Amino acid sequence: MEQRHAVRLRPGVTLGGAPLQLVGRARVYACGITPYDVTHLGHAATYVWIDVLARVLGSAGVEVTVCRNVTNVDDVLTAAAHRAGEPYDRFAAIQQFYFDGDMAALGVGRPALEPRAHAYVAQVIALASGLLERGAAYERNGQVYFRGAEVPGRAGLDRETALRLLDEYGDRPGDTARDDPFDVPVWQSSDGDEPGWDSPWGPGRPGWHAECTAMALDAFGPAVDVQAGGADLRFPHHAYQAALAEALTGVTPFARARLQSAVVSVGGAKMAKSTGNLVLVKDLLAHYPASAIRMLILDRRWDADWDYDPADLDRAAARVERLAAAAGRPSRGTPGSGDAVRTATQSALANDLDVPAALKIAEEAGGAAARDLGAFLGLR
Ligand SMILES: [Zn+2]
Repeated sequence: MEQRHAVRLRPGVTLGGAPLQLVGRARVYACGITPYDVTHLGHAATYVWIDVLARVLGSAGVEVTVCRNVTNVDDVLTAAAHRAGEPYDRFAAIQQFYFDGDMAALGVGRPALEPRAHAYVAQVIALASGLLERGAAYERNGQVYFRGAEVPGRAGLDRETALRLLDEYGDRPGDTARDDPFDVPVWQSSDGDEPGWDSPWGPGRPGWHAECTAMALDAFGPAVDVQAGGADLRFPHHAYQAALAEALTGVTPFARARLQSAVVSVGGAKMAKSTGNLVLVKDLLAHYPASAIRMLILDRRWDADWDYDPADLDRAAARVERLAAAAGRPSRGTPGSGDAVRTATQSALANDLDVPAALKIAEEAGGAAARDLGAFLGLR
């Protein structure tokens, strides 16, 4: 007699409103931190959401590989290290240590791959050479610029907004050496105490976007399933990272989906050191359990900007208590309805990571459903 095997159908995952069809595995490239400063709530939100994405993809039956880089070669970092009187690599390693501690305390899973930019200089040089060969880049005064005139349009931005963002994120669109203000350095010349490596174009260092392109290509080849990071990376960073990869490999799109987690503001203002309104993860952890911080981050839509109010953390802690109370009472419903509830919570999560909907279902059902969801989301 023919042997039949039961195949369990799992809910398909949608992300950003579109189905993310996956067979067997998922490659997630997450832009990590530039280790020059303490970890704040905005960082925590980004990496907790990426952590949940990985858990949801894993429960959908695919093998998930998260690659989260460390941008330890960066002009902002160099400047901060200089102010601290430390070599940039030592300074970065210390900041990285604190970041790792905060992430571990928040229950964020350690990524399988954690490339550090300084170890990928040869790959950036190969990327720059390849782009030059393909006519997608040109050399000028020891710098290699990528021809990016089409990038803002493809990102759906008007010229003025794109210029403002390029300037804000340090891409210096006013640099007159480039043919077009939207060209960005793949390789930039270094002098003085800037970190520098030998290259065919003289001593220099990688451009920010090119670092992530090189690390992603090295980790995953020409495409990824999800490109992830904070919403502030949408443009220019993610747009140029993808454009550089596509120009080199000819494989389009570089990323099949994106998880760009929402901006967290404080009192209506962008969180920034200069504004003095940074909400630090270590300060929150001193007064609240990690489960409350995760609940604060997760009990909302991942792509809707939000404003932090300290009272929200008390509400999140109370919500964790309610979930725990629901987990402690017997399940509502008829015997055997547990599977249906489990499927319903999984479907909610698979539907664009709808944590609030999953929480509602599990809390109403109580018992094992609430226990399982609490454990799955790291909320206990
Ligand atoms: Zn990046």
